[in-house]
Amino acid sequence: MRRRVALFSPSLQAHMDAMSEPHPSASVFTGLKRGLQHRCPNCGEGRLYRRYLKVEPVCEACGHELGLYPADDGPAYFTILLVGHVIVAPMLIFPWIWEASPWLVAPLTLIPLTTLTLVALPRVKGAVIGMLWAIKIRKAEDAPT
Ligand SMILES: [Zn+2]
Repeated sequence: MRRRVALFSPSLQAHMDAMSEPHPSASVFTGLKRGLQHRCPNCGEGRLYRRYLKVEPVCEACGHELGLYPADDGPAYFTILLVGHVIVAPMLIFPWIWEASPWLVAPLTLIPLTTLTLVALPRVKGAVIGMLWAIKIRKAEDAPT
C-alpha cells in the first residue's frame, strides 16, 4: 500500500479513491436492477462484463472499480437455487417425466434447463454484484486475487 501511494501524487490518489467509492445513493433495488441488465451498478451506463462472466475491472463510463466485488460462488448458488427449486422440483410432479422414454425426457428437459441456466447465470451474477455494491462489500485491496 505504501509503495502504491508513493507512485502517485496525493491529489491523483485522492481522485482515484473518489472514483472507486460507491455512489452515495446506492440502493439494493438500483444495484439489483442494473446488475440484472448487465450494467455497472454505480452508474447504470457502463458494461458489467467483458465476456460471458468476466467482469470488467473498471467501468468504462464512470471509472468505478467493478473487479473489487467478491461475487465468488454466490451467483452459481443462487442460479442452482432458482433453476432447481423453481423449475426442476415442480417439473417432477408431472407424470410424463416418469412414464416417457428416457431418450425423450432427457433432451426435452436437459436442453431447456441448460439454456435457462446459461441465460440466468450472468443476470444472477450481475444482481449479486449489484447487491454487493449497494451494501458496500468489497475485496480488501491488498488481498491476493
Ligand atoms: Zn459505471
